[in-house]
Amino acid sequence: MPPIITIALSKGRIYDDTLPLLAQAGLAPALDPERSRKLIVPTNREDVRVVIVRATDVPTYVQFGGADLGVAGKDVLDEHGGDGLYQPVDLDIARCRMVVAARADFDYAQAVAERRRLRAATKFERIAREHFARKGLHVDMIKLYGSMELAPLTGLADVIVDLVDTGNTLKANNLVAVEEISQVSARLIVNPAALRLKRETLRPLIDQLALAAQRAREARLAAAALPAGGDRG
Ligand code: AMP
Repeated sequence: MPPIITIALSKGRIYDDTLPLLAQAGLAPALDPERSRKLIVPTNREDVRVVIVRATDVPTYVQFGGADLGVAGKDVLDEHGGDGLYQPVDLDIARCRMVVAARADFDYAQAVAERRRLRAATKFERIAREHFARKGLHVDMIKLYGSMELAPLTGLADVIVDLVDTGNTLKANNLVAVEEISQVSARLIVNPAALRLKRETLRPLIDQLALAAQRAREARLAAAALPAGGDRG
């Protein structure tokens, strides 16, 4: 019997976007975690199982061997620091941007030019601190765990640092992105010791997932190159 491989995933966008890549690697979870309370999900392969954890806990599970591999957003990895993790593949899924956002009537460029001391609300404290430090700005950080968009509207903070996908959430709250910090996508992360010990099973799985991600990226780029409204046929 080959060693059991444990994959850590979080529910929601990461899970939904990882599923097609797992399918291309011949893997199918045996139940839908959105409809089940089970945290350990068997798959069609006896030697592979999925564990469902919070997005911010995925790197911790993989780092300490609670899982052999996992899928985590670059935002989560940057906050975690990435210690003890092998990051072989950018899966190019769950893509979004990390931005600084402010009320439409807040002149961020002016505040930066004047080197004003700003208050920034975010759950991405490390990313925000490093970003503002690179700009040489003094920023008082306010740690929040959600609904960051509310902070500039209530006077809690001048700016927020948050993820933006369509921009709808910012728009609905009269906020605008004033600066892009980074492009974010989800990465495959691997426990280096597990890779040594379970190489024969893990390596092909990593390669298959990398190939699936590459194919999906090529399909996305090809679709983006088509003229709007139809194909070239
Ligand atoms: P949107 O309205 O599409 O710009 O999405 C913004 C909201 O979705 C914010 O609350 C973000 O924190 C969250 N969000 C967007 N993309 C992601 C992602 N890839 N991973 C986690 N949260 C995200």
